[in-house]
Amino acid sequence: MSLASGHPYLAIPGPSVVPDAVQRAMHRAAPNIYEGELIEMTASLLPDLCRVACTRQQVAIYIANGHGAWEAALANTVAPGDTVLVLASGLFGHGWAEMAGRMGAVVEVMDFGKQSPIDALRVEAALRGDIDRRIKAVLVTHVDTSSGICNDVKALRAALDAAGHPALLLADCIASFGCDRFEMDAWGVDVAVTASQKGLMTPPGLGFVFFNERAAEVRAGLERVSPYWDWTRRADPEVYYQYFCGTAPTHHLYGLRAALDMIHAEGVEAVWARHDTLARAIWAAADVWGEAGALRLNVADPAHRSRAVTSLSLPAPRATDLRRWVEGNTGVTLGIGLGMADAADPAWHGYFRIGHMGHVNAHMVLGVLGSIEAGLAALDVPHQAGGVSAAAQVIAADGAA
Ligand SMILES: *Cc1c(COP(=O)(O)O)cnc(C)c1O
Repeated sequence: MSLASGHPYLAIPGPSVVPDAVQRAMHRAAPNIYEGELIEMTASLLPDLCRVACTRQQVAIYIANGHGAWEAALANTVAPGDTVLVLASGLFGHGWAEMAGRMGAVVEVMDFGKQSPIDALRVEAALRGDIDRRIKAVLVTHVDTSSGICNDVKALRAALDAAGHPALLLADCIASFGCDRFEMDAWGVDVAVTASQKGLMTPPGLGFVFFNERAAEVRAGLERVSPYWDWTRRADPEVYYQYFCGTAPTHHLYGLRAALDMIHAEGVEAVWARHDTLARAIWAAADVWGEAGALRLNVADPAHRSRAVTSLSLPAPRATDLRRWVEGNTGVTLGIGLGMADAADPAWHGYFRIGHMGHVNAHMVLGVLGSIEAGLAALDVPHQAGGVSAAAQVIAADGAA
């Protein structure tokens, strides 16, 4: 018997759950893009996005997914022939590196593997070694969605400063935005990119690039930036169509407005705190299950784990079996393992991920964990029972009195 009928939970790390309020806001007749409400509403999005990024700088919005935001950030800061240093701690770091290469940059990759965070001291040494200052930008993935690693971006700014290196610091915050603590200005990030479909709880289709004055100066010094990716007018339009270099993504904007209202009603600090507790509940469950079996969290040290996505391993083919059982029987869709093994390799079936980003609360996480525990039992996968109780204790400890 399947027990999956009921409200589904797409627990993959993006696209994330779209709140009813966001869906309702999008369900409307097409608005006028030349005058009226949409014009002012769009202007209101920019400062509210900046508040989530903890920046007083500028933001440009693109009709694009995360890859588009990656390209936009590079198009405004890196000229063909410039060198970029990419710090990789999972698949997405390599993805951004590949894109920079295809845009004509000379790409140097420092690979920190799939289970360890970026080592800022090694980065500092590399920057000191760049005597002629060839490196124009350092690219970091704040949270790598494949490995679940959360990198210390502030420490990278310190590394750049300690080396006295003028390169821009670019951060991919697509997975972390609105989930893991991120403070653009306080951490000294020059350019931050994100997209709508993760912590921002809005369907895929909007990309965002935040940039500071240093980055704007670099942009001004570039010989040519493709008109569509140019962030200058998008961040500071003279006429409405310049926000989007054409027709606005009308319905997405209404959805985003509702999502930002939800984030700011809860408060950005509270949103981060909620993600922190829910993530620790998931880790507590996984730790218990692993006491009598082979289920493991990918990142050993909690200090380096994301609060938005958790990567786990369960030797092949059990991870895939578990995902299938849980989806078929409980209404929860877990994420595939990404970048941990080649898709053609049988070991690929030994990884899975839980997305816990955005519109996620305690009962949803407890439901995911209960579904996983049921699946482990149903499939006779060796594990220590009691993971859900351990998670409940984390939630009990952090809930309001
Ligand atoms: C999701 C994600 C991307 C890619 O975003 P798309 O919308 O799929 O193009 C890039 N980087 C990170 C860290 C992500 O989580």
